[in-house]
Amino acid sequence: MNLVPKTHPVLRQQALAVNPFAPDVRAAIRGMAALLKKTRGVGLAAPQVGLPWAIFLTDVPNNAGGPSCLRINGKSVALSSCRPLAFLNPKVEAFGAISQGQEGCLSLPDVRFISVPRYECVKVEFTALDGRAMLLEASGFFARVVQHEFDHLRGTLITDYPQVESMATSISCEMSRVS
Ligand SMILES: [Zn+2]
Repeated sequence: MNLVPKTHPVLRQQALAVNPFAPDVRAAIRGMAALLKKTRGVGLAAPQVGLPWAIFLTDVPNNAGGPSCLRINGKSVALSSCRPLAFLNPKVEAFGAISQGQEGCLSLPDVRFISVPRYECVKVEFTALDGRAMLLEASGFFARVVQHEFDHLRGTLITDYPQVESMATSISCEMSRVS
């Protein structure tokens, strides 16, 4: 499994819902997890590997890019217990204050440190690998990663955001590892 070039049309498509139990879906998630580890990214979406499917993975270390808070089904969880975490058929609601932060993307290797506005908090309804319906609530850096990856499922890339002059942000250059 490899990243597709930035000109691949799948990067501009609306992703399609998947069946979590389909063997090709499960194989794709295994391949994506391996690629995410290899690239040391903090997130990877299926369109980035040429699949038009509504799947993304996150793998956010504790100290990457700024603090993160995470709750799954109402319970606080440690980032370390969610590495990686697979989101199937996610629905993302983003809210709260908007801040600019620096992001890169594995699909845009020649673009570094683009300033992207993101909401502070997200709520994500998604299907887990075992088919269960889950609710994840996140804030901080994890919320930024989720918004970046969800954009990929809607055909949006970081270069689509208008660039702003102000670089005022508390988020560190670890953002370059957002994929
Ligand atoms: Zn990306």
